[in-house]
Amino acid sequence: MYLSMPFSSGNAAVYISLAAAGDMGANTESHLAHREAFFKASGLAGAAQYPLVLEQVHSHVIYDAEELAGHSTASEGLLPGDGIISRTPRALGVSVADCVPIFLRDTRSGAVGAFHSGWKGTGIAAEGALRMEHDYGCRLGDIEAVIGPAIGPCCYHVEQDRYEYFLKTFGPAGVNKIGNSYSLDLKLINYSILSKLNLKNIIVSDACTCCDTRFFSFRRAMATGTHFSRMLAYIKILE
Ligand SMILES: [Zn+2]
Repeated sequence: MYLSMPFSSGNAAVYISLAAAGDMGANTESHLAHREAFFKASGLAGAAQYPLVLEQVHSHVIYDAEELAGHSTASEGLLPGDGIISRTPRALGVSVADCVPIFLRDTRSGAVGAFHSGWKGTGIAAEGALRMEHDYGCRLGDIEAVIGPAIGPCCYHVEQDRYEYFLKTFGPAGVNKIGNSYSLDLKLINYSILSKLNLKNIIVSDACTCCDTRFFSFRRAMATGTHFSRMLAYIKILE
């Protein structure tokens, strides 16, 4: 029903729902029932422990968890944005279907961050790390990261203009050209961006959501003409 990826410290882990857990949108009662079943199965005791979430809009908008009071769990009233940071340890989640779920944790203070990073949002996790440094006084060298399952370069073929935009903006890592075929490795690109901030330790999933059918995939759904569904990934504090 889900996969888990521990942070290097072992004091927190990322849980991501698999397709078998059902659509984790936030629009219908059945979506919310899927979320609740996933939270319970992955060990959250009750609603007070459920992750804060947003309505994902492919932006660079990051909220402090304190701004989300009353907007955090219900299907209606979710705020639009793609990143949440919290000064204190708590569960934070993002919904994805090929986009990259990225999580940060300050090993010293326990501050955390969760980010939904599609191609338009690339860089949002680094912006979040810098916000944690600026707003909470975290040291970048104390922040560990997990980059979760997302579409891989095997499946993420793009047009030349997007290839050139990435090459120019983020450099060559994960930006591929073979003949007239262009592809992006969004996980590697995010790893490269976060590495330049000298974070403590960055763990990267090797799973491709598009060719590994345990996952939901926007690209695969488009290619097969089927409705696409979302997965939910969240950071859970274990200590
Ligand atoms: Zn693939």
